[in-house]
Amino acid sequence: MAFPTNSKYVIIGAGIHGLSTAYHLALNLRSKGLGSGRDILVIDKTSIAAGASGIACGVVRNNYFQPAMRELMAHSVKVWESDAEAYSYHPVGYMQISPEVMREDVASIAEQQKEIGYESVFIEGAKESTHYMKGLFDDWQAQGITSVLHEKSGGYSNNTRAMYGLAAKAEAEGVRILTGVAVTGFDRDSGSEAIRSVQTDKGDIQCEFVVVATGPWVKQFWEMLDLPHEVNIKAKDGLIHDGIPMWVFWSLQEGTLGVDPKMQRTNDGVMPPVIHVDSDAPLFSSVDGTLITEEMWGIYYKPDFHFDGIQGGAAPFKVETDPDHVAVDPYGPDSPDFVVGPEFAHMWCSALAHCQKRFEGQMPLYKDEPSGGIGAFTPDSFPVFDIFCDNCYVVADSNHGYKMLGVGKLVAEELTGVRSELMKPFRYSRYADGDLHPVSNSPFPWS
Ligand SMILES: Cc1cc2nc3c(=O)[nH]c(=O)nc-3n(C[C@H](O)[C@H](O)[C@H](O)COP(=O)(O)OP(=O)(O)OC[C@H]3O[C@@H](n4cnc5c(N)ncnc54)[C@H](O)[C@@H]3O)c2cc1C
Repeated sequence: MAFPTNSKYVIIGAGIHGLSTAYHLALNLRSKGLGSGRDILVIDKTSIAAGASGIACGVVRNNYFQPAMRELMAHSVKVWESDAEAYSYHPVGYMQISPEVMREDVASIAEQQKEIGYESVFIEGAKESTHYMKGLFDDWQAQGITSVLHEKSGGYSNNTRAMYGLAAKAEAEGVRILTGVAVTGFDRDSGSEAIRSVQTDKGDIQCEFVVVATGPWVKQFWEMLDLPHEVNIKAKDGLIHDGIPMWVFWSLQEGTLGVDPKMQRTNDGVMPPVIHVDSDAPLFSSVDGTLITEEMWGIYYKPDFHFDGIQGGAAPFKVETDPDHVAVDPYGPDSPDFVVGPEFAHMWCSALAHCQKRFEGQMPLYKDEPSGGIGAFTPDSFPVFDIFCDNCYVVADSNHGYKMLGVGKLVAEELTGVRSELMKPFRYSRYADGDLHPVSNSPFPWS
């Protein structure tokens, strides 16, 4: 097929946001009589699922301290549930298991989940929490836990399978997905900010609307769009903090214990919820008993046949290199800089053993293969979903986003004229206006 020289909508990035936007936009255009999937072109410099969406753990949860995030996640869970098979979605539920320092935060999450009708069970107290966990796993042994939030919805999805499922749904609506085409810049209309054509290494594509959904590569696109390198942020107390870098990178740490996934069945013999444990109990090595940390730590894990083992991760760390010098390519497991090493394996496997006896002595089965990847984070670590340059929708999820399948649906609605209340708290103007999201006590930058 000839290289297209124009398309009404050009969506850059074939990850979860680009593909979800393409699919839902095609549905919207058709149902509103505004066109069809044939008006949409998705381009990706590598392939479908070549970015963060193709390596994500795939956890889908509601547990967020910020009301706006929680409402967006509840909306997204409904989209996951709408076609669990195509999205390779496993609705096993999700558990946030926490120490005393987080109890009040999590209690308020549970309270607000009730208000929005998101089903969950909240357990408080050390004895009660242990009892609840032992009811699920009789080998539960984590220390210092005083609350358990058990979300009955959510779970996880198999990353690449879900992306192929989403791509197939978009293509069935007439969307064209072109891979191996790298965007290099934008041509503007004379005398306006608006983008007239997308420049690529294969030629220019004229368009009326552009969607940038490039995950960890968003900083490069921010620069192509001539958007500010730094932002000024109005704090809650009215003070202006100026010169804050717009993008920083964090390195996500994940890996797989190469055991039979069925090893993690519950007492009732069923596949369990995704487990997330935060703890301030000292963490000791399951190999030699030495102290690993006395600081707050956190892990998450789930049995996963796609990864073929118990897959999960630990809190990420901030990449200290100047963001201008961070190499995003080669990405993920191919990166020479940002894959997890033995230190992660030691900590994560020891933490698994801290939580459940069945993981004691299993560390030699940790899969010694490159895993993990980086994410581009905004100044407050929350997404920016907004229109820039008159006709360019930037979907920058600040690495929250595999679970946010529903964002593409809302972007599609906005592109066809319906402004979304759910997206409003994620506008770029919140930094200047001081409309910031509340911050939790979790060790993770995305809780
Ligand atoms: C290790 C890891 C684990 C994670 N686990 C979870 C999780 O369990 N749950 C969760 O909710 N989130 C998770 N995340 C975050 C989540 O994966 C991302 O937020 C989300 O996948 C980003 O999706 P995206 O569509 O914006 O970008 P991506 O999936 O990264 O897609 C961007 C695409 O843009 C393409 N591209 C880049 N530059 C160009 C260019 N110049 N021209 C054309 N195409 C280009 C890339 O090839 C890529 O395919 C995880 C992230 C990582 C790194």
